[in-house]
Amino acid sequence: MIIIEGSQGEGGGQIVRSSIALSLVTNQAVAIKNIRAGRKVPGLRRQHLTAVRAAQEISQSDIAGAEIGSLELVIHPGTVRAGEYQFDVGTAGSTSLVLQTILPALLQTQEISTIRLSGGTHNPFAPPYDFLDRAYFPLINRMGPQVTAQLIRPGFYPAGGGEVVYTIRPANQLQGLKLLERGKIIDRRVRALVANLPRHIGERECESVARKTGWRKSCFEVEERSDSPGPGNVLLIELRTPQVTEVFTGFGEKGVSAETVAARTLQAARRWIDADVPVGEYLADQLLLPLGLAAVDGQGSAFRTLGPTQHTRTHINVLQAFLPVSIDVRCEGDQQYLITVK
Ligand code: AMP
Repeated sequence: MIIIEGSQGEGGGQIVRSSIALSLVTNQAVAIKNIRAGRKVPGLRRQHLTAVRAAQEISQSDIAGAEIGSLELVIHPGTVRAGEYQFDVGTAGSTSLVLQTILPALLQTQEISTIRLSGGTHNPFAPPYDFLDRAYFPLINRMGPQVTAQLIRPGFYPAGGGEVVYTIRPANQLQGLKLLERGKIIDRRVRALVANLPRHIGERECESVARKTGWRKSCFEVEERSDSPGPGNVLLIELRTPQVTEVFTGFGEKGVSAETVAARTLQAARRWIDADVPVGEYLADQLLLPLGLAAVDGQGSAFRTLGPTQHTRTHINVLQAFLPVSIDVRCEGDQQYLITVK
């Protein structure tokens, strides 16, 4: 049995989600100890538990410790089955993170799966729906599978109640990726999503980014939604390059001006633009798992990215505990790193 120390490195939910995913994919039993031990409220939260239960349902695995607050999970993986599944994160927990827990296993089946998820679709500290749809899935699809997403309605913290449907068509084999040069930015799209809040919030966010960048008017769009159960506002800056589309996200918050949300989001985008690397910091940690699986089949990968985050470094350790792969991080400059997976 593989033992994973849940408090290592970043010490958060990603260690749990990736360990579950890797246990299912590699058919190896795992014990994850001291889950989120260093966090204010340690152990499994509802959102993690939904991911555990989703994994259990698609694989009929034997899982001990699947309770709120649990510090330890022991998984004896069963057989993963493609199919139609529906999971409710409840509250506003991130639907994207639940999807990412079960996606690797479903990518290894022979048939199409349809996953309907309800909960949060745009959560701080998690990939928003648009990031998966515009940045993550196009790269997964370039590796061979065909994953599509459809947003039925957005869900924001704290009301949640969003809904999204994913269709996953696996490929026989995962191809590796080489994402070494960023190239020119060929398209820019700035979208302010405003749910049950005044439209001017989104307009001010867009105007603020337009003023600071000089990007042409046709790049900007305010989308008003009244079908979300609660209020919410998110600003999405999408930048397309020949190889990679990156999505930078800012969340509207009570007491934070639309201009501040715009400035913060633009700052994250500029950091990536200035570094002249194709892969942003969030994409980096999220690509490692599928690239690791491709490497097991002899399909090596390499990408250039910003300085690796704690998430990335911890994820590398977790991956190397499950897979016979070697992941190397080489510093090439202040904000230029080359990561190779083989
Ligand atoms: P954890 O904090 O361990 O639950 O993991 C959070 C995950 O969400 C990591 O894989 C991050 O890369 C990802 N993430 C957090 N914020 C964003 C964002 N703004 N855009 C895309 N991914 C994000």
